[in-house]
Amino acid sequence: MSNVQEPSFRESVDLMFNRAVALMDLPPGLEEKIRVCNATYTVRFGVRLRGKIHTFTGYRSVHSEHMEPVKGGIRYSLGVNQNEVEALAALMTYKCALVEAPFGGSKGGLCIDPREYEEHELELITRRFAYELAKRDLIHPSQNVPAPDMGTGEREMAWIADQYARMNTTDINSKACVTGKPINAGGIQGRVEATGRGVQYALQEFFRHPQDVAKANLSGSLNGKRVIVQGLGNVGYHAAKFLSEEDGALIVGIIERDGALVSPKGLNVESVSRWIRDHGGVTGYPDATYVEDGASVLEAECDIMIPAALEGVINLSNADRVQAPLIIEAANGPVTAGADEILRDKGCVIIPDMYANAGGVTVSYFEWVKNLSHIRFGRMGRRQEEARHLLIVEELERLSKDKELGWTLSPDFKDKYLKGAGELELVRSGLEDTMRTAYQSMAEVWRSRDDVKDLRTAAYLVSIGRVASSYRAKGL
Ligand code: NAD
Repeated sequence: MSNVQEPSFRESVDLMFNRAVALMDLPPGLEEKIRVCNATYTVRFGVRLRGKIHTFTGYRSVHSEHMEPVKGGIRYSLGVNQNEVEALAALMTYKCALVEAPFGGSKGGLCIDPREYEEHELELITRRFAYELAKRDLIHPSQNVPAPDMGTGEREMAWIADQYARMNTTDINSKACVTGKPINAGGIQGRVEATGRGVQYALQEFFRHPQDVAKANLSGSLNGKRVIVQGLGNVGYHAAKFLSEEDGALIVGIIERDGALVSPKGLNVESVSRWIRDHGGVTGYPDATYVEDGASVLEAECDIMIPAALEGVINLSNADRVQAPLIIEAANGPVTAGADEILRDKGCVIIPDMYANAGGVTVSYFEWVKNLSHIRFGRMGRRQEEARHLLIVEELERLSKDKELGWTLSPDFKDKYLKGAGELELVRSGLEDTMRTAYQSMAEVWRSRDDVKDLRTAAYLVSIGRVASSYRAKGL
């Protein structure tokens, strides 16, 4: 997959950063201060499993502390290394700035294939890793707040939260030390789906702007658009599910580790996901054509490509054959800097990772606020909102009756109008608002500046500008 001339993931992020900074007028030296990673902690620890001690290597990188706590996921994968966590931590800084989540950027990872371990073994490993990070304040409600990423989910976050609480028994805010927890452990409604939901909102917003859609040589709405998704994990599954079930998009290809499924009439995401869960991969799935060389499907004809698995999958070795006119980077760093240039020259529009997958950190932000305020969103206002709506409905019905106007409110309207917003509705509203506002700030730069040719550069300009202002305000 990789090519000798290809820069590393970290270098790729820096190259993209440099391209944007060249168009800015930052005070001398500030550019470097923003670009560099403040610190990366490497830990090696042992866990006794299956009668012997296994040594694991983990990382937690802090890219920028212009705002604290710093925030970023913890990834479990054999590909984890220092270069990768630093690149991901840098992306977190820019992502948080772009969506106005008040955090600096961080990222962590454990070099492990979680599929090789039993649940109780993973719990021992996760708790030990959490202990190592927490004792150095690299997990802390006001300093460093992890979240799920590739290979981790609610279960791991619950173990981390509990481990932190055991080590900090009097910290009333201990639940805010990590986000992406299950509801019963202090999580928030809508966090599991948040990143995929954010991808959907990002595409919906893009398609609200016909002049932007035209730049990708597309037209119309999401309805009927042919979509290929790589990686049917947390992010890819939710994005594909919502786009097909709610926006009428056709999922014509799903690429997984063991190959790809292709179907011009559209795949049923739920049924493919169930198949993967039951069989460990897409191989053998009945209602589609199976392609053994899954990565080749990244080059297939479609309207929208959603890489939602891992970084560097669209690179110098395949970029010139990629046909998608629109790529939305649901994964972090799926397009290398070299490939980005080739695709830009071809006129392909790329909705960049730092925006496209920011739904996760946005809802993590809401979860952190919920944990610090110790109350579920909507608990105080929901019934009051319903009571006020009921007043209006009853008044309208009274007027209709008294004045013999003959009006009747449709039962559907009444049901919808009378329902006050609970936590899930508020989370979705906050997420949608965030994705729409961030798109507009990024697209505005893209449309208005002749020297900004793509959304990624525009996104960097907005976020670096915000990080720079924050440093300036601090007097640095
Ligand atoms: P996940 O572990 O839930 O899913 C990853 C999926 O990709 C799995 O289905 C896996 O089988 C598949 N996959 C792995 N290697 C592959 C390959 N070579 N080819 C095809 N498929 C492959 O992970 P996730 O949480 O969905 O994260 C996916 C990406 O999204 C990562 O880049 C991550 O950094 C990014 N992201 C995740 C979140 C989040 O909230 N989970 C937030 C922001 C960004």
